[in-house]
Amino acid sequence: MTEKSCPLCQPTPHQTLWQDGFCRVVLLHDADYPAYCRVELIAHIKEMTDLVPPERAHMMKVVFAVETALRELIQPDKINLASLGNKTPHLHWHVIPRFDNDRHFPNSHWGVAERAGEPRKLSESELVQLQDKVKLYAERALAVT
Ligand SMILES: [Zn+2]
Repeated sequence: MTEKSCPLCQPTPHQTLWQDGFCRVVLLHDADYPAYCRVELIAHIKEMTDLVPPERAHMMKVVFAVETALRELIQPDKINLASLGNKTPHLHWHVIPRFDNDRHFPNSHWGVAERAGEPRKLSESELVQLQDKVKLYAERALAVT
């Protein structure tokens, strides 16, 4: 996959919660997983080990900042972190808050549905809080060397 055909190299169709020159945090607005976020590298790079160690640390600091923000805001039963990239070989991390009554639990959110789930959107207040917390924790983590 080239940068021309890569969806993550195009302007994101998702809501950007925070970004710097290296990566961005987007909210996918998935009805079954309303707080499902993705941390996407800006550059078209395939593997974590293609990054130099400080860049790997930068990426993971942002992933953990999103996880922390989500745990504080919606207290999920579990956080799922995933980086596959088989279909889109451009580094990105899925950060998925899971509840034991969500549509697929205990399966992967890409797996077999176990129940109907309860689709919903984040409220405007939740959205603002999520954005504020992601910014706070990402910038705090990145300020520490
Ligand atoms: Zn790409």
